[in-house]
Amino acid sequence: MSFELPKLPYALNALEPHISQKTLEFHYGKHHQAYVNNLNNLIPGTKFENASLEVIVKEAEGAVFNNAAQIWNHTFYFNSFSPNGGGEPTGDLGHAIKQTFNSFAVFKENFTKASATLFGSGWTWLVKKPDGSLDIVQESNAGNPLHKGLTPILTCDVWEHAYYLDYQNRRPDYIESFWKLIDWELVGKRF
Ligand code: FE
Repeated sequence: MSFELPKLPYALNALEPHISQKTLEFHYGKHHQAYVNNLNNLIPGTKFENASLEVIVKEAEGAVFNNAAQIWNHTFYFNSFSPNGGGEPTGDLGHAIKQTFNSFAVFKENFTKASATLFGSGWTWLVKKPDGSLDIVQESNAGNPLHKGLTPILTCDVWEHAYYLDYQNRRPDYIESFWKLIDWELVGKRF
């Protein structure tokens, strides 16, 4: 199977001023595209040649996992945003966040801290566990919770390529902007 770069659900300048067109041109147009190209070059002749992306993320290791997971993670990340995002989730996800963390404010504080303190490159995830409860997990590099049997609900990309053009070394400022872009109606459907 040959993979393609999924279309962004908004224009390249739609997330400004929080995430600039220039960042998306590189982050989506160059980095996300490179993971797609790499995976397409890696899988011919392997057992994953005809596998779905999700199966590869769950089962592969090494370079095949890294590139497949980076495709999956970026698609999931880019599909969490809206120019009219922000606020708080309602419905089942909003209820589950209050049950697990006591309040949205505590969840936001914990997720922000996990994102700010993740050493090096990686992803912070809000996940649903098999028992239906929520958790926040840090993953290095291409790490993806599907690989551990968890259900991803929300993710923040804290690789420097996600924010360096707009915020340089100020990862906390990027995370603050991240919250203003979340489309909770869309994210809530993942729960
Ligand atoms: Fe990234």
